[in-house]
Amino acid sequence: MAERTEISTLGEFGLIDHLTKNIEIKNASTILSVGDDAAVIDHFGKQTVISNDMLIEGVHFDLMYTPLMHLGYKTVVVNVSDIYAMNATPTQIILGLAFSNRFSLEALDEFYEGVYAACAFYDVDLIGGDTSSSQKGFIISCTAIGELTPDTFIRRNGAKKGDLICVSGDLGAAFLGLTLLEREKKIYRENPAIQPDLEEEKYIIGRILKPEARKDIIELLHEKNMNPSAMIDVSDGLSSELLHICKQSEVGCVLYEDKIPLADETKQAAFKFHLDPTACALSGGEDYELLFTIAQDDFSKLEPQDDISVVGYITNAEEGKTIITKGGKKLPLTAQGWNAFGE
Ligand code: ADP
Ligand code: MG
Repeated sequence: MAERTEISTLGEFGLIDHLTKNIEIKNASTILSVGDDAAVIDHFGKQTVISNDMLIEGVHFDLMYTPLMHLGYKTVVVNVSDIYAMNATPTQIILGLAFSNRFSLEALDEFYEGVYAACAFYDVDLIGGDTSSSQKGFIISCTAIGELTPDTFIRRNGAKKGDLICVSGDLGAAFLGLTLLEREKKIYRENPAIQPDLEEEKYIIGRILKPEARKDIIELLHEKNMNPSAMIDVSDGLSSELLHICKQSEVGCVLYEDKIPLADETKQAAFKFHLDPTACALSGGEDYELLFTIAQDDFSKLEPQDDISVVGYITNAEEGKTIITKGGKKLPLTAQGWNAFGE
């Protein structure tokens, strides 16, 4: 049987010490880390970007099919994704946790293994947090901090008429991965003897359980000297994010259904579930790709291997927010959001 150490045998301070004892500082901006009343960071003449995201058991994740190590990794990813979406470089995170006595030290160690793996990959320092008990479930609150050259942040409000709408990677896979895991959970509940064979669905499951933030796209945009006029990360689905950009930039848009990037695995899974893959991309969410607008002059800087698709263009606000379907119909773009698919 797996070892189980009760958290109570360590006490709060023993636990924090255990979880943070191997931290090695990576960023010069990290002046003081875990162990005092607060951490100290100095961004040496740069500007600081700060964002927080919470992940709640039963709302954002289900531990029945989410390995704790993946959850730790994803916690960091969803937070640094917001920092990249501002065109900044993440440098530190602060992690607040609350858990019931259902969680053992071994379980927390597994979670932190994922946290530290993501910290290593994204070059961020874990510089503090808070630890509390909860009556039920696992609650995670993560703050990410990043830096940028003064006034180089990219907001959601800069899109201009004629700008091209770009999105990185492919969309809709995370939603289909979640749909599959929910279906397997139901089957397992009805008959625990049935073992799912998920080998063929590796891609879509990976997209929901182990997403990555598009650090590479930000680096690419810098290398190519491209300056998006507006940018946002795709956490709630393409339509909802594009509508945010349109609203804040006071513009309209034309989105082409046939330009929305979909992986073959996404199309196949959608076919199996009798779902429209476009709807999954528009309303599914959790893809953590970057959606941004560029001036037409920047178009020639894009190359096929860049993993960036042009999906439409920005119009005057009066022209509305529209999608041109594969059949050539012009329809209003609505924010279906995550809940469109129900539970
Ligand atoms: P305080 O009483 O001042 O809030 P704590 O005892 O909560 O201090 O925390 C002590 C130190 O441990 C602080 O530096 C805090 O940031 C850090 N810390 C607390 N919980 C965590 C955690 N879950 N992960 C990482 N660092 C933590
Ligand atoms: Mg505290």
